[in-house]
Amino acid sequence: MLGDRAICEGSSSGLAITADQQQQPAQAGAGTSVPLSRYESQKRRDWNTFGQYLKNQTPPVSLSHCNCNHVLEFLRYLDQFGKTRVHSHGCVFFGQPDPPAPCPCPLKQAWGSLDALIGRLRAAYEEHGGSPEGNPFGNGAIRTYLREVKESQAKARGIPYKKKKKKRNNQMIMNKQLPLPNDNTNNNDANAPLTHIA
Ligand SMILES: [Zn+2]
Repeated sequence: MLGDRAICEGSSSGLAITADQQQQPAQAGAGTSVPLSRYESQKRRDWNTFGQYLKNQTPPVSLSHCNCNHVLEFLRYLDQFGKTRVHSHGCVFFGQPDPPAPCPCPLKQAWGSLDALIGRLRAAYEEHGGSPEGNPFGNGAIRTYLREVKESQAKARGIPYKKKKKKRNNQMIMNKQLPLPNDNTNNNDANAPLTHIA
């Protein structure tokens, strides 16, 4: 979505890419590899975009020095490519989901897009050798930012995001043990057995 400039993946890049992708076949037979799923290829594109963004900073930021502030700046930077009209407070269409006429309000990234993006980048970060504890995409500041975007866009666009029952798709979590983010109260029973029923 950010243009199709080829991204140079030279070995001099600051990204620490670990060679742990065992399912990757030996590099023979070009063009015969199994196509990635939509999610996987999107995740790869997002990761490359973010890496490119870090490299383009002055001075360039290496992945190991990347923190949640870089991520927040990246999210704001992406707004210029957004396609979602978010009405400003002065706009007569503020709060109208379906305005009858165009207005000069800025286009931004929709909250849902940012939310999904962060999820993909968070996973990609760890797949590329980053530690879960230091994952800048999992930082509380990012969650706070996303919540603020969500609330302000809900008001500006007149679209309430309904609280759906949050169902984690456990199939996404493969056999990798993901540590629970200890942002809440359920630390005590995190290790309690779930299959106690007699
Ligand atoms: Zn407007």
